[in-house]
Amino acid sequence: MKKILVYLEPQKDGLKRSSYELITAAKALSEKSQAALFGCAVEANENQLNSAAAYGLTDVINIKHNLFEKYSSTAYSSAINQLIDSEGADLIIFAANSAGIELAPRIAARNACGYVSDCVGLDYDGELIIRKPVYAGKAHIKVKINTARKVLSLRPNVFTASKSEASISIRGFSPNITEADLKVVTTSQIKNEGKLDVLEAEIIVSGGRGIKGPENYNLIENLAKALGAAVGASRAVVDAGWRPHAEQVGQTGKTVSPSLYVACGISGAIQHLAGMASSKTILAINKDKDAPIFKVADYGIVGDIFEVLPRLTEKISHSLNR
Ligand SMILES: Cc1cc2nc3c(=O)[nH]c(=O)nc-3n(C[C@H](O)[C@H](O)[C@H](O)COP(=O)(O)OP(=O)(O)OC[C@H]3O[C@@H](n4cnc5c(N)ncnc54)[C@H](O)[C@@H]3O)c2cc1C
Repeated sequence: MKKILVYLEPQKDGLKRSSYELITAAKALSEKSQAALFGCAVEANENQLNSAAAYGLTDVINIKHNLFEKYSSTAYSSAINQLIDSEGADLIIFAANSAGIELAPRIAARNACGYVSDCVGLDYDGELIIRKPVYAGKAHIKVKINTARKVLSLRPNVFTASKSEASISIRGFSPNITEADLKVVTTSQIKNEGKLDVLEAEIIVSGGRGIKGPENYNLIENLAKALGAAVGASRAVVDAGWRPHAEQVGQTGKTVSPSLYVACGISGAIQHLAGMASSKTILAINKDKDAPIFKVADYGIVGDIFEVLPRLTEKISHSLNR
């Protein structure tokens, strides 16, 4: 392995947290394998790219084109492919988030190379060994890719982003993009203003059918606010139309690994566990002491969420001064 490329996603004043996690994970690999590490981003600004220096990235390429006004998975992947052709890269790493899920398979297909998605562990001992969950998180497998060029996506919130100051050099890259590359274009984004996305959040408070109706979801939101957490939901809640699909955690929703996952009135069906069982700490609140969620929970409260949530929120708000 000679060169590792990480795909970085700009947001506000810096990069997405998952991008810093990619840098840290890739840096560890580059040190073990003596491969050079560089990053690329599309239409980022200097501040955003400079923020990568705090995580030890020294070389980053900003891909720019006037047709990139709107996000297009086809045009972005064409541009990244052109960058790979020009710079070379044996290993290309994305976050397993909505952008990574679209771009990584396109890059792998175009390069006819092996791709492993949703990785939760990476090691290098003469060759790259990848760990990923299977059977809805019930087991893990170790995988290796036999093609010379390899593509990975890393599950957000699993690899810890560690700071290590470096001085960064930023280069530009102008791909050859035409209207024909804009096969799919995002026309508008419906933003959950001020709301944290479950994929990026350190703490998630999720509600299940036990919350009884959308009019009671303020109990979940209040606890989330007190903890500075994102709001999540089980599929039962989303199917009932109480919450948007963007908040759904599980097999057909998002896979999350926050530091703390608070499951409120969620039974713990296997399909829900598939999306949150790798959370670092799980607190379950359920009135049924035999609910399966308690099997994966680190802490459990057997009780009625309508009594527990207001008291917990008050205590936490009081002690955190929120
Ligand atoms: C192919 C497929 C994919 C799926 N994908 C997903 C997915 O991505 N995510 C997902 O979540 N599910 C998914 N499901 C659905 C899953 O099987 C469950 O039906 C769903 O997770 C149940 O949601 P729930 O726990 O909120 O509801 P329930 O199973 O109805 O559980 C409600 C819980 O609330 C507790 N409760 C009730 N009242 C109170 C109270 N006052 N105080 C405290 N506790 C209370 C009950 O004891 C119970 O444990 C999928 C299913 C299939 C077949």
